Formats: sequence, C-alpha cells, structure tokens
Amino acid sequence: MKIAIYPGSFDPITSGHLNIIRRASAIFDRLIVCVMVNAGKNPMFSLQERVDMIKRVTADISNVEVDCSDQLLAEYAKQKGCGTIVKGLRAGSDFENEFIMALVNRKLNPNLDTVFLSADQQYMSLSSSMVKELASYNVDLSDFLPEQIIPDFKKRIATTHQGGNIK
Ligand code: ADP
Repeated sequence: MKIAIYPGSFDPITSGHLNIIRRASAIFDRLIVCVMVNAGKNPMFSLQERVDMIKRVTADISNVEVDCSDQLLAEYAKQKGCGTIVKGLRAGSDFENEFIMALVNRKLNPNLDTVFLSADQQYMSLSSSMVKELASYNVDLSDFLPEQIIPDFKKRIATTHQGGNIK
C-alpha cells in the first residue's frame, strides 16, 4: 500500500491545499494530512480546530485521514511506516525552501522521499497568510477557502478584529 503524508500548518486550509489533497489522494492509496506544530508561527486556529476543518472539507475523500503532530516530520513518517511526503509548489520562493526541507528530511530519514505537485494555476499565489490579510477587506472568500470553513473563518476574524466587512 502506498502511503503519503501531506504536512503543513493549514491555518486555515485553503482551496489550494484542498486541490493538492484531492490530486495526491488519487495518486496514493492512503494520504495522511498532518497539521504540524510550527513554533515559529502564531496560529489563528488551534491545532484541533485546524484538524476539524480539514476533516470537514475532506469528508468525501475516503482514503484521506487527518492527524496532527509536534514531532519532527522525518520521525513522524518513520513511525507511520511512510516513505513519501507530498508538497505543493507555488510560483516564487516555495521551490528553494521546499528543496532544502526535502534534503534535510532525507538526511534525517534516508528512506523518505518528497514528491512535489505543482499548484494549479488559479491557486498559484494563494496562501493562508494572504487570505488572512484579505479578510480585513470587503473580499469574496469563495475563490480562496473551501465553502464549509468560510463561516468559521469569518467568525474568527470578527472576534479578532471586532467586526470585519467580509462578504
Ligand atoms: P501556507 O504556505 O499557505 O501557510 P502551509 O505551510 O500549510 O501553507 O503549506 C503546506 C503545503 O501546502 C506546502 O507544501 C505548501 O507549499 C503547499 N501549499 C500551500 N498553499 C498552496 C497552494 N495555493 N497551492 C499548492 N500548494 C500549496
């Protein structure tokens, strides 16, 4: 059975992430989407909230499971008996960072390969941080976030900014 892990912060999951999940789930027998704790980031949503949102938007994909971890990715993969990491590559700086991460992960766990899927054109410049920036303006979020989580996102923005002006 071919298992792959798709790791990230998913704060929150965007339509670009979901696009990668759908495509990777068609390539592998089983795909583990893993929300990784990133000490350098101050997340908008808790780990559990991010896991729950990903579970909701992937409920229709039977071979996807959702998990979270504060371990090193190379260690987590070893524990899961998984030798493949999936990453999405957008235009710009993703390549350099992701290439270095792939090398580091392979050094830590020589059985681990990283497979890159190029972002679909419409999601090429979409990131969670970009959506968070847009949220303060009057922007339709349906091109950027899966429909099911837009209410969660608007609610969080409204409580953090005391009322946004979001469609
Ligand atoms: P972000 O950069 O949006 O904070 P993450 O750290 O959660 O996202 O990214 C997890 C993985 O998803 C990374 O491999 C990243 O390159 C990829 N990814 C993020 N956004 C997109 C997108 N719009 N299209 C394709 N891949 C993406």
